[in-house]
Amino acid sequence: MSEEREKREAFLRAYLAEFDEACPVCGYSLLGLEGGRCPECGERLSLCVHRDGWEMYSWGIGLIPLAGVMFWSSLSLIMRAVVLDKFSWAQFGVMICFGLGAMAWVRWRRAFIQLKPGLRGLLAGGLWILAFIAGLVVMYFTRP
Ligand SMILES: [Zn+2]
Repeated sequence: MSEEREKREAFLRAYLAEFDEACPVCGYSLLGLEGGRCPECGERLSLCVHRDGWEMYSWGIGLIPLAGVMFWSSLSLIMRAVVLDKFSWAQFGVMICFGLGAMAWVRWRRAFIQLKPGLRGLLAGGLWILAFIAGLVVMYFTRP
């Protein structure tokens, strides 16, 4: 065993001597762990540092409706043009708005992460509602 691995395992054992963490694989309690492996599932474990909080999850949850509506409306726009020989300005507008929205969402990711958690959730959730409304608008304007 390398010296660095030995050191890392010592830190892991010291940490788990005080804090009760669940095995990330099987959920078994690791309090008082003896070696570097989970006694239940045998998976090798290591101590690591990661960013605190759920910032990236709420950012990702907000990106889904933006990118999804943009993708869906552009695909649908092309299909309607090819199959039905029809064009919808409402659909085109939705595609542009959500495309620009997705670009802004990616561009200002850092600013989003620094918002208060409640506001982040509200923004991300609001985008899903907006996507739903946009879907209804497009459906209305492209109905047969
Ligand atoms: Zn385990």
